[in-house]
Amino acid sequence: ENSTPTNFIRNKINQDLAEGKNDGRVHTRFPPEPNGYLHVGHAKSICLNFGIAEDYQAPCNLRFDDTNPAKESEEFARSIEDDVRWLGFKWEGEVRHSSDYFDELYNFAEELIYKDLAYVDEQPAEDIAKNRGNFQTPGKESPYRNRPVEESLEQFRKMKAGEYADGQMVLRAKIDMSHPNMLMRDPVLYRIRRLHHIRTGDEWCIYPMYDFTHCISDALEGITHSLCTLEFEVNRPLYDWVLDNIDAPARPQQIEFSRLNLAYTITSKRKLTQLVESGKVDGWDDPRMPTIAGMRRRGYTPQSIRDFCKAVGISKVNSVSDMTLLEDAVRNHLNDTVERRMAVLDPIKVIITNYPEEKEETVQGKNHPKDDDMGTRDLPFTRELYIDRADYRESANKKYKRLVKDGEVRLRNAYVIRADEAILDENGDVKELHCTYDPETLGKNPEGRKVRGVIHWVSAKYAKEATVRLYDRLFNVPNPGAMDDFNEALNPESLTVIKAMVEPSVADAEPETRFQFEREGYFTTDRYEHSADNIVLNRTVTLRDSWNG
Ligand code: ATP
Ligand code: MG
Ligand code: MG
Repeated sequence: ENSTPTNFIRNKINQDLAEGKNDGRVHTRFPPEPNGYLHVGHAKSICLNFGIAEDYQAPCNLRFDDTNPAKESEEFARSIEDDVRWLGFKWEGEVRHSSDYFDELYNFAEELIYKDLAYVDEQPAEDIAKNRGNFQTPGKESPYRNRPVEESLEQFRKMKAGEYADGQMVLRAKIDMSHPNMLMRDPVLYRIRRLHHIRTGDEWCIYPMYDFTHCISDALEGITHSLCTLEFEVNRPLYDWVLDNIDAPARPQQIEFSRLNLAYTITSKRKLTQLVESGKVDGWDDPRMPTIAGMRRRGYTPQSIRDFCKAVGISKVNSVSDMTLLEDAVRNHLNDTVERRMAVLDPIKVIITNYPEEKEETVQGKNHPKDDDMGTRDLPFTRELYIDRADYRESANKKYKRLVKDGEVRLRNAYVIRADEAILDENGDVKELHCTYDPETLGKNPEGRKVRGVIHWVSAKYAKEATVRLYDRLFNVPNPGAMDDFNEALNPESLTVIKAMVEPSVADAEPETRFQFEREGYFTTDRYEHSADNIVLNRTVTLRDSWNG
């Protein structure tokens, strides 16, 4: 059950091990850019990289790819560390940063210049873009391309020393201006940008580009298998070119796998940032967000997210996963592991007219129907109760397994009651139900009569009021990311806040305690807002799939 299904990446690793590559080592890394919170797509990459590390008893690094200071922040970095830890993974040693390697990267750039494999290009940016050509047309070589090595070296050092304005010149690799892969047409390696960096401050005014940084960072850390998403397939020749042309301390290989896409939501940090910044959601960890922090707050367990990633699998073909797959993962895990409680989401009062007014008793509820080790709990039973409005009808056919006038149902863990009379309010809605109970039916079936079904309830005297947030899909269309403006697809009813009545024991639960409210779904006490005096619950998922049919 816990073993990971094999896939082409694991097959490749096994082959490399069999051939004695990398001195028999396996070493992976997860390299997020700290420019947003992690989403469910990142979870797939985390489970892949850290999962391989676990299974091969190998290290996996957490590395912040922090070479683009404009959008990065400490808050994002901390949230990423929290999320990886919460998912249950441990990175090797300290957190790494691409910026840890700025000195080394700079030296490797000089090495390329010495080898006449890189040059400082002083063409204006527009000319560089224009002269790159396109798929049909070869590019045009820069007039600076064949300048002497010493000249490039001098200019590069002056770039670093801050003698030039932002954007005035760049360092480019000297590869091939008519290469069929556009990324190989003398890609830019360094640019001048006067930006304050969270870690290196104002020490640098030149910053290395992703393609130069990533492969060298991998090599410096001794990474063996550098796993990334399919869109980086075109970057692989450049990854290899850089490492083949410097005196690299190790020779990692890049392997690509399919991105995770999830229907009815968005897995792009840029778009999630827009949702947060426009206030359409209540922050990065809003329980409607497909972020790891959002799913956590919604009540997802680390195990369920790991199970989901396992179910999605690793392949070379991009596809869109169903929300049902994700929700089933959490349903299955919670079904096995969380305690049952009763909560009445839309309460109407029940008065048991033949139950003595001063009487109170305690009945027992099993915490889990199939797991006796989870024990029982005390449930106060009193003359006045609440049941759910949806569990009573004046009349109904036999398919309605709940309470009807003059019919009987069992109150879960307690007695059989009969509905005698409904008192209506001015709108004709039921205000109060007058019922009678059969005192002989505690833990016993009534003799010679059939009850319609079982419903849940709470004691009106002892139940606690709770704020309950019911979540629905955030978007009304399967692929909001493909729209010009995904805001148009936002579901205006993605959040409903109600007041419910819950068993008293829910008040004592710590934040982030998960329950199944019987017949209703899975809920968690809110990570931040829940307390004994202010019960706040988020619905994780309903009991049954609501996406199909
Ligand atoms: P986004 O496109 O959302 O901004 P990103 O790829 O730019 O994502 P990074 O922080 O660079 O975000 O991602 C870190 C790692 O997570 C990368 O190795 C990336 O390939 C992987 N990753 C990101 N999104 C997905 C996804 N949807 N499915 C699988 N892996 C992903
Ligand atoms: Mg990225
Ligand atoms: Mg991105």
